[in-house]
Amino acid sequence: MRVSQLYAPTLREVPAEAVLESHKLMLRAGYIRKIAGGLYSYLPLAWKSIKKIEQIIREEMDRTGAQEIMMPIVQPSEIWKESGRWDVYGAEMFRLKDRHGREFCLGPTHEEMITTLVKNELHSYRQLPTNLYQIQSKFRDEKRPRFGLMRSREFIMKDAYSFDADEAGLDASYQKMYDAYERIFDRCGLKYRPVEADPGAIGGNGSHEFMGIADSGEAGIVYCDTCDYAADVEKAECAALPAPDEAPLPLEKKNTPGCNTIEAVCNFLHAPILKSVKAVAFTSDKGGLVLCFVRGDHEVNEIKVTNAIGANEVMMAPDEMIQEAGTVPGFMGPIGLDTKKCTILIDSTVMNMHNVCCGANAVDTHYVNAEPSRDFVYTKVLDIRTAVKGDKCPHCEGHLKEARGIEVGQVFKLYKKYSEALGATFLDPDGREKPMYMGSYGIGVGRTLAAVVEQYHDENGIIMPKHVAPYEVIVLPVNVKDADSFSKAEEIYETLNQHGIETILDDRDERAGVKFKDADLIGYPVRIVVGPKTMARNAMECKVRYTGEMKDIPLEGDYVKAIREVLDKTL
Ligand SMILES: [Zn+2]
Repeated sequence: MRVSQLYAPTLREVPAEAVLESHKLMLRAGYIRKIAGGLYSYLPLAWKSIKKIEQIIREEMDRTGAQEIMMPIVQPSEIWKESGRWDVYGAEMFRLKDRHGREFCLGPTHEEMITTLVKNELHSYRQLPTNLYQIQSKFRDEKRPRFGLMRSREFIMKDAYSFDADEAGLDASYQKMYDAYERIFDRCGLKYRPVEADPGAIGGNGSHEFMGIADSGEAGIVYCDTCDYAADVEKAECAALPAPDEAPLPLEKKNTPGCNTIEAVCNFLHAPILKSVKAVAFTSDKGGLVLCFVRGDHEVNEIKVTNAIGANEVMMAPDEMIQEAGTVPGFMGPIGLDTKKCTILIDSTVMNMHNVCCGANAVDTHYVNAEPSRDFVYTKVLDIRTAVKGDKCPHCEGHLKEARGIEVGQVFKLYKKYSEALGATFLDPDGREKPMYMGSYGIGVGRTLAAVVEQYHDENGIIMPKHVAPYEVIVLPVNVKDADSFSKAEEIYETLNQHGIETILDDRDERAGVKFKDADLIGYPVRIVVGPKTMARNAMECKVRYTGEMKDIPLEGDYVKAIREVLDKTL
């Protein structure tokens, strides 16, 4: 490819809506263009990188024995109704009708489709395990599409689905995918961490997210400073924290005018926040009021609450519902309530506390010196708070640290959820019919590219890791009008391509400064400069984008080998 022919229109001004560096740089360098909210065209540079990431994924998937297929993007509503997800998926699902009025959706994921496919084709234990994958566009109608390829509405995803005869088989398939994911992200050059994730309604411990580490990441991660434990902050287990031992004092009611936040109450009563209990009231898709109580400085974790009550989602409870249960918004407390009128969940740390302050279920009133083990009524005591840095590790004596991440992949044990709902069964060696054990495994392909750019850039532009760079080398003749050096540059360009090193030639009649800037912006891993001055030294000048390291490579001798060595050593 010659840069004079390359369709990579660079931009001087990026739109104000682009806040992430990866989004800005991919627009500026001519990788992507937006047509509407969350909908992007991949221009040649991005598309070449995407195809390289896809190729890495294919090779590693095929290595595990998974087989590539391609399913339709448009999916009939019937299979989603059968699994029960047509109604619960909500507004993120893009729904449409055909000319006959039949309902369809644009696939946000393919569990229903693949289960329906294999249930008619896989019958015997002899055909298991099977793992099928595809690389395809998915559609999710995000409320706020943003961050370029990071959170778009149409996006490219690799999704794989495993089918096994039993749980041990599923565990083995899951581990194979987990290992393949590590190889894939290693090869892409990404800095990542696999973390324990929330398995949602399916429960168990069967989900990991692969997080690209980046301060700009949307997801919070906690990890242990001592052992290997790492988890999505939403999922991280929290140990019950100890509280100083104190003799219980008599319960007392206090007037607290206008103090309807925990900060206001603690200020007014001069009570330490570590000796206060705050409340959050939810309702869920199952209906009913759920009152949750945590230590004043902690946050209630909605996912843990959702899982604890076996719901699909929780939302803030309306004031009327709170009043019907005999309490008052802003002054809720777990004393004197009726667990027949509401579900009361108390965080396990709270039960270790003494002489605490909490709401008294009447306007402008709080209790002080409440003794949780003596005074509180509850349905259940359990872990319902969100982990914070400094918490004790659930697996060792270490402490948790925080980081931010970009979710680039997830592996998930589905067990029998879809096979039972959709009737995907097989016959075991004794001829008994059993549901298959399934796993699902996703990688965001465009998001992986965006995460790579987010991790590798500087003030001059993108720094592409060599395995995912659109071209590995750019040959840059300083002056195309200087016949000698220009023909040498062309010769080097041809030779490198013939030897399998993907090379682009900047043959534009532009000032050298402009060409240098563009090469840095696009982020080619290695830049080779040829001009009258380097010719005088009988050399080409080689610069590594990642390290900035420069050196001369002699024009005589095996320069292909020399350049290959430079490439081998760089990012
Ligand atoms: Zn630990």
